[in-house]
Amino acid sequence: MRLISKVFLFLLGLLSIPAWGQPLRVDRLSLSLNAGFTRLVLEADRPITAEISSQINSLGLNLRLLDGQFTLSQSLTGEASGVVTGLRPALGQPDTISLQLLDGAMIDRAFQLPPQGGRGHRLVIDLLPADPAAFLEAFAAPVKLPLAAPLQPAATPPGRDPRRLIVLDPGHGGHDPGAISASGRYEKELTLAVGRAIAARLRASGRYRVLLTRDKDVAVKLLDRVKLARNREADLFLSIHADSLAADRATRGASVYTRAEDASDRDAEALALRENKADQLADTAQEQELDDVLAILVDLASRDTKRLSGRFAGLLTASLSERIPLRRNALRAANFKVLGAPDIPSALLELGYISNPTEEALLFSEAGRNQLAEAVVAAIDRFFDGP
Ligand SMILES: [Zn+2]
Repeated sequence: MRLISKVFLFLLGLLSIPAWGQPLRVDRLSLSLNAGFTRLVLEADRPITAEISSQINSLGLNLRLLDGQFTLSQSLTGEASGVVTGLRPALGQPDTISLQLLDGAMIDRAFQLPPQGGRGHRLVIDLLPADPAAFLEAFAAPVKLPLAAPLQPAATPPGRDPRRLIVLDPGHGGHDPGAISASGRYEKELTLAVGRAIAARLRASGRYRVLLTRDKDVAVKLLDRVKLARNREADLFLSIHADSLAADRATRGASVYTRAEDASDRDAEALALRENKADQLADTAQEQELDDVLAILVDLASRDTKRLSGRFAGLLTASLSERIPLRRNALRAANFKVLGAPDIPSALLELGYISNPTEEALLFSEAGRNQLAEAVVAAIDRFFDGP
């Protein structure tokens, strides 16, 4: 129901025409950098339509409201983020602001969000860096916003590496150690070591492009991990974790999870709660915005993605079972935030229980790491070789 009403509001936002007596006033604007793209958010009391065009004599863009004015109380000078190095009102044109760019840029997405959580109607514009040719092409003519088909992935630009992109996501990091092993070692160390081992093997095969959501000991928000995969249009997302049961040193074995609103069993549900806790520091406004977007996307894309995620998780479970101990019913589902990309096949691998001393010794060893990496790469190969 929640989803349906969101989609409805979204469509309503697209259809409504600013026909009130007063001109529309955009009184809030924010600029931020989100996992590789620059996000500009305009806010007003009704849906915003605008036009964006390239500047003639300098590297920049003009953003013009089609029916309204900027009445920003905040100063725009000094605002800069990502590909946008500066932002100021256009001289003598209250309906236009000018964006100075570091580099060429193109619009990745531009969509409206309905009022929610005390915020008004928003027009969200995501910019990506682009080479000069792509920049010229993107703004050969003024672009009307929101984009008519905002949710379509961008066409592959010429010259782009056609190999599949695998995003590996070593869990936890920085202030968040994750689970703690029998001898006091951290999950975050293990997930990074295994992530790197898998990445090395995938790269060595020459078949894939590989991206790690973190390649050092830093904290990355769960939603930023998802966003990175989405912005880079990953073909597969694999989150890597390990678990620990302080009161039960006997349990061991790997398991593989896909996302489902309803968990497959109570253990899986409890695990998802533990893993989702990593995001206690998440920026809730940003999260809400992403939630809104995802809710819309989910309906459009997720049926196929679910099927593919299930297929990959099945292949991974089979491949692991040939090499390392698995839990009983090793293929499970629960509501993991980090598996939230509606358009990218995703799975979460729990390497095993580091509270079990035997398993800890295996997982933290080079031999164990190699077995795991071999199993994951074999599953990825099968996944992309298959129908
Ligand atoms: Zn974890």
